[in-house]
Amino acid sequence: MPNSLQALVNILQKVSHLNSASEQVNALVHGVCEAINVDVCSLYRLDKSGNMRLVATQGLSVNHPIKIPQGRGLVNVVATSKRPLNIDDAALHPDYFYVIFSKEEKFHSFCGVPLVRRGEVIGVLVAQRTQACKLDADSEAFLVTLASHLALVIPAEAFTPKKKSSANMRHQGISGAPGVAIGSLWHCKKIGLEDVTESLNDDHRLELERWHILLKETKAGIKAEQAILGQQLSAEVTGIFDAYLMLLSDQTLIEKVESEVKRGHALPWALKLSINYFSKLFRSMEDPYLRARSEDISHLGNKLYQVWLNQSVGTAHSLAAITAPVILAGKHITVSDIATIPKRYLAGIACFGGSALSHTAVLANALGIPAVMGLGDIDRLETIDKLILDGNSGQLICRPSDAVLEAYQKTLASNREIYQQLKELRYEPAVTTDGCVVSMFSNTGLLADILPGLKNGAQGVGLYRTEIPFMIRQTFPSEQEQIDVYREVCKAYKGKPVYFRTLDIGGDKQLPYFAISGEENPALGWRGIRFTLDNIQILMTQVRAIIRAAADDIDLHILIPMVSSTDELDQFRALLDQAYEQLVAEGLQPVYPKVGVMIEVPSAISLLKYWRDKIDFISIGSNDLSQYLLALDRNNARVAGRYDHVHPSIINEIHRVATMADSMKLPLSVCGELASDPMAVILLLGMGIRKLSMSSSKIPQIKWLIRSVSTQQASNLLAEALALDNSKDIRLLCRKFIEDNGLTKFIDVDASIAKFNHLDAVIKI
Ligand code: PEP
Ligand code: MG
Repeated sequence: MPNSLQALVNILQKVSHLNSASEQVNALVHGVCEAINVDVCSLYRLDKSGNMRLVATQGLSVNHPIKIPQGRGLVNVVATSKRPLNIDDAALHPDYFYVIFSKEEKFHSFCGVPLVRRGEVIGVLVAQRTQACKLDADSEAFLVTLASHLALVIPAEAFTPKKKSSANMRHQGISGAPGVAIGSLWHCKKIGLEDVTESLNDDHRLELERWHILLKETKAGIKAEQAILGQQLSAEVTGIFDAYLMLLSDQTLIEKVESEVKRGHALPWALKLSINYFSKLFRSMEDPYLRARSEDISHLGNKLYQVWLNQSVGTAHSLAAITAPVILAGKHITVSDIATIPKRYLAGIACFGGSALSHTAVLANALGIPAVMGLGDIDRLETIDKLILDGNSGQLICRPSDAVLEAYQKTLASNREIYQQLKELRYEPAVTTDGCVVSMFSNTGLLADILPGLKNGAQGVGLYRTEIPFMIRQTFPSEQEQIDVYREVCKAYKGKPVYFRTLDIGGDKQLPYFAISGEENPALGWRGIRFTLDNIQILMTQVRAIIRAAADDIDLHILIPMVSSTDELDQFRALLDQAYEQLVAEGLQPVYPKVGVMIEVPSAISLLKYWRDKIDFISIGSNDLSQYLLALDRNNARVAGRYDHVHPSIINEIHRVATMADSMKLPLSVCGELASDPMAVILLLGMGIRKLSMSSSKIPQIKWLIRSVSTQQASNLLAEALALDNSKDIRLLCRKFIEDNGLTKFIDVDASIAKFNHLDAVIKI
């Protein structure tokens, strides 16, 4: 083969640019025949019954579906042996299976390679020639390499039999916000800027005037929406409107449209060219946050176009038609799209573009509206009267069958009922059956969580992720702006402990206005305290803001994220002292906070013994700790299935921290996801951990669990778990404990249902 790499890239590029699975597989088999000069290339998929079904072929004669029964034929030899089979003459092989009417008899050589996805054989790619001469080594290697890529490029549906009816059609996206919603589809925009076609203006001066009127009216519309939403959302989120307004005042955008109009283009076309230009510019940026900003530009373009449409042809989208729960769907969904739907009818959000990091996802989480992002092409959905949106699994189920609908409705109803019962525990302490008291705190970062936190019985804020208010802004917040946000939290949790964590950005958390890009391995890079110590002005402003916001009637804690060395801790303490002295010198009477470290980096565990006099408390960030102990990124779909935070190494390490904290008399809490995983909570109780911090929606369920077990039971279970060498057995052990003790009823409930509360609460982000 002269240039196999180029041929490989050509095929993969072609396949990945095609939209439908059938086009992709046909292009693939065609491409292989050309690339390695074979007479036949066929792709088979393994079906549920173990048969091999022909998906696409170039060269075989196919007049009806071809199926090779399980255990028969060379294709199955390849699948079961999990290795290539490259032979001169297929018919001479003892396992040869002649597919009737395929005219296969004229092809002699056979080379089959397995297609594997996540460790499972899902199909076989076969190349055949009329000559009785096996494929050369390069061609075989080409097929093997291609097959390894295919499992990643070709969507799963190419390997799934077509459904006869479209009932229960599932579209897989990414979970944007948890929870389940049932409703009809509401397309937020049927006509967008993308539908605009090229047209010319008659008089560019007139068109320029129209452009400036359009700018003015769009700004006025945004301000009006901001004013309406301002009553429901805090300044943190209505800041997104400020971003739109800023873009609308940006001279580069204004002048770009002007220059397109002057070139003779009609306003909509000039707008489309300009928006596409800027959106492409952002999309090409390496940094994921800046890339996500291209969405903002597109949203704004659509917004401008909608205003233009309303001015010119009057195409207002009738919201009066909404009289029952809807799932708001669209390629891009803006804050104002969300705002225009009557709150009581907005059940869920299905976004065909976007990612879990988009503003839409942040907002949906804050509002407690289940959301699925990145669902793919909007054109695949026609108007559908019934949809189930499952924000937990990231799925959209179209036209659910009665059975599926009933199952979801039943679960929702029983979850609501169970949560009603759990809510009764709000003012009850989280106390074990043998009288041991556990403190229940909430994890938050949005002011919207304050109300649900208090409603669910949080006794304080165990983790305030300060990066969230930083993330939903367009610039670093000033000291006063931070004080205003932190003060809201302190006011709400008067007299209670609040743990403010200093800015924890880097890795998967990026700021839209300060990209940390160009790192080969961001998870091990400029993150958490490493970043803020190198940007000491940001840290100083923040520490001052936290201290100034805290009145002396809150129990103020400052948490340091991602600490991995004593030096970082010392530097932070020196900065804190300086901030405190500055505030005293300014005539304030500041409260000196308690200082603690997040145990997220494994090195911090061994260092703990040196830190007795440097810290006042410890908080285990089990999310990052698990990621670094297991060297597994749980946001990476390829390895997510291997991630389980009840892994024996994690349980053992946390146990080690708990034992050290106890002997050093240091208060200890857990604030990662482990603290709200019922199976893990019993083990944490067994380790003597008495402070847990979690999303407020999970508090009632975990409180109920704690009130149902004794510390003796928990430490017995821990002892058994510590003897096990794998996560699966630890989970089974905990599950058995829960079942044996009749605790399943309140454990298997979907905690996100608690967020349904938002529908009757005042929304405040
Ligand atoms: C953690 O790592 O467990 C944690 C609580 O921090 P975050 O999830 O914000 O990284
Ligand atoms: Mg963390």
